Amino acid sequence: MIDCLFCKMAQGEIKPDLVMETDELLAFRDINPQAPTHVLVVPRKHISTLNDLTPADAGIIDKMVLAACEIAKLEGIAASGYRLVMNCNQGGGQTVFHIHLHLLGGRAMTWPPG
Ligand code: 5GP
Ligand code: ZN
Repeated sequence: MIDCLFCKMAQGEIKPDLVMETDELLAFRDINPQAPTHVLVVPRKHISTLNDLTPADAGIIDKMVLAACEIAKLEGIAASGYRLVMNCNQGGGQTVFHIHLHLLGGRAMTWPPG
């Protein structure tokens, strides 16, 4: 059994502040929000990094993006705008090694990111 924070959330062992749940995904508020809306969209399946995706996972990424877009509407940030981010490995800023999509909005985003 993998000792993984997001697997524990997917299995109900740790209860995050959920905003959406499906049979394949969960979405919850980030514990250290970087914007007024900061939601993480996470597949229930454990995939450590983007480098570990295989063609069999093709269907999961589109569902993660669609869920994030739906949550953006529910959060009232779709019109003002938002950012979707996936970090890969240490150099990409990844700290939790179970893939996740950040939905950030509710403030003006700067570019390039830090
Ligand atoms: P990464 O840096 O891997 O792209 O993003 C991991 C995110 O997970 C960070 O934004 C961090 O604040 C968030 N995070 C870490 N631990 C927890 C936790 O226990 N609960 C929640 N809700 N978010 C967490
Ligand atoms: Zn995991």
